[in-house]
Formats: sequence, structure tokens, C-alpha cells
Amino acid sequence: MNQFEGKAVLVTGGSRGIGLACAKAFALQGATVIVCGRNEAAAQAAAASVGGKCEALGCDVSDANAVKRLVDEIIRRHGALHILVNNAGVTEVGLAARMKNEQWERVLATNLNGAFYTCRAAARHMLKQRYGRIVNIGSVIGLRGQAGQCNYAAAKAGLVGFTKAYAREVAPRNITVNMVAPGLIETDMIAGMTEDMRAAAIAQIPVGRAGEPEEVANAVVFLASDAAAYITGAVIPVDGGLAM
Ligand code: NAP
Repeated sequence: MNQFEGKAVLVTGGSRGIGLACAKAFALQGATVIVCGRNEAAAQAAAASVGGKCEALGCDVSDANAVKRLVDEIIRRHGALHILVNNAGVTEVGLAARMKNEQWERVLATNLNGAFYTCRAAARHMLKQRYGRIVNIGSVIGLRGQAGQCNYAAAKAGLVGFTKAYAREVAPRNITVNMVAPGLIETDMIAGMTEDMRAAAIAQIPVGRAGEPEEVANAVVFLASDAAAYITGAVIPVDGGLAM
């Protein structure tokens, strides 16, 4: 099925993990996919691994000017941006009492500011073309909290509020804005967990296992599809039941 033929899709943080799985899923269904990451060489290598129409651009989404240049370049190359997946994310673990300002700010800058910057830059084009699909990647931690991750929880919870408010602003122009909130997913982001931490985390998951990046991508692709045209401002957990 080539349901995304003729559609340009930007996946931020598409060089590995969940973003790369999203890029592959969109490309498989005919989209032209642009992945970005801070490390441009890694993004290029990822794009080459996707198969189908996929290209890479370097961009740090916490830099508003860089994001504007990124979106302008996509419009220059493809004439439109139809689907935006705000996936770029980082964590910096530490108890709030001892957290440095920089640790707080870095996590907010990428996970929350970055999504705002890309939405704002994309909006100029999506509003004009009266079509857009935006999927923000949140986290179960933004829904239920996690000790040691106040910065990340605040960023992802903030993204829930942003998703709903922005969905209201752009709905009249045929633009939907939704969130997929993953639980524990097998990517580099969780690779640093000790076996004990991992076992404790999995013990809390009703389905009894971590998820795969492709399982998150399935929900993202659905929300970007015509089948989801009547869904906006929604938060869909993909977490094996962890958040319920
Ligand atoms: P990952 O494997 O660590 O990949 C993160 C991606 O984001 C990389 O491509 C990275 O590329 C990019 N990135 C980080 N900071 C960036 C920035 N400032 N500008 C542009 N790109 C940036 O992480 P993941 O597990 O796939 O996570 C993807 C999303 O899912 C994140 O939003 C994360 O918070 C969320 N999530 C993950 C889990 C999980 O268990 N894995 C659970 C819940 C939510 P560069 O390093 O080259 O910049």
C-alpha cells in the first residue's frame, strides 16, 4: 500500500531508534522521508539504510534558527511538508534536588522547545496548504512521572499540553496534532539501564516485556494516515499497559 505517495515527511531524531523505525515505515508506504539529527553523518547513514525515498539533514532541534533553516530546505527541495514527527529526544537522569540548571535546560530544550520550533516552522506551510499531520512523541514518564527524571517528565508532560492546545489552533485548517506516548522501548535510550533496573521496569509492564521501535512506528503511521483524519489532540500510549 502506497498511502503516503507524494507526501513529504520530516522525522526529527530519525537517525536511530523510534525515529528510524518511523522513517522506514513511512518510506515503505511511498513517502519521501527526511530524517534529521545533530550528527549529520549518522543521519546520512540511517537514511541510506531506509530504502525507498529517504534523505538526511543535520539539525539540532533545540536551535530555533537551525529548525527554520531545516524546514525551509525541505520546502526548497520538495515544495511541501505534509507530515511532521517530533521524535528527537534526550534524557539526563538525576534527582531534582541535585540537578544542575544545564541538565534541566538541555532536556527541556530538545524535548519541548524543539517540538515547538518545528511545529512553528512547519505551520507556515501546513496552514497555507490546508493539510498537515503532526505526531509528537511523548512518554509514559510524562503521564505518570518517574523519580530521577523530573526534567524529562516536565518536558513530556508539557508536550501533552502543547499537543492539545496546538491541535485546537490548527484543526480548522485540516491539520491534526496528536501524541504517541511510548513506554519502555528497545533503543539506545534505555541501553544504559542495569539488568536490575531493566527487570524492575519490566515487572511493572502488564504485557511483561519491553516494546520494539516498530510497535511505536505503527501508531505514528496510523495517526498520520487518512484513517485518523478525525483524531486530534489525542494521546495514545504504546506501552504494554504501563500507563493505565
Ligand atoms: P534514541 O535511540 O536515543 O534516539 C534519539 C534520536 O534523537 C537520535 O536520532 C538523536 O540523534 C536525536 N536527537 C537527540 N537530540 C537531538 C537534537 N537536539 N536535535 C536533533 N536530533 C536530536 O532515542 P529513542 O528511544 O528512539 O527515542 C525517540 C523518542 O521516543 C524520544 O522523544 C524519547 O524521549 C521517546 N521515548 C523513548 C522511550 C524508550 O524507552 N526508548 C520511551 C518513551 C519515549 P543525534 O544524537 O544525532 O542528535
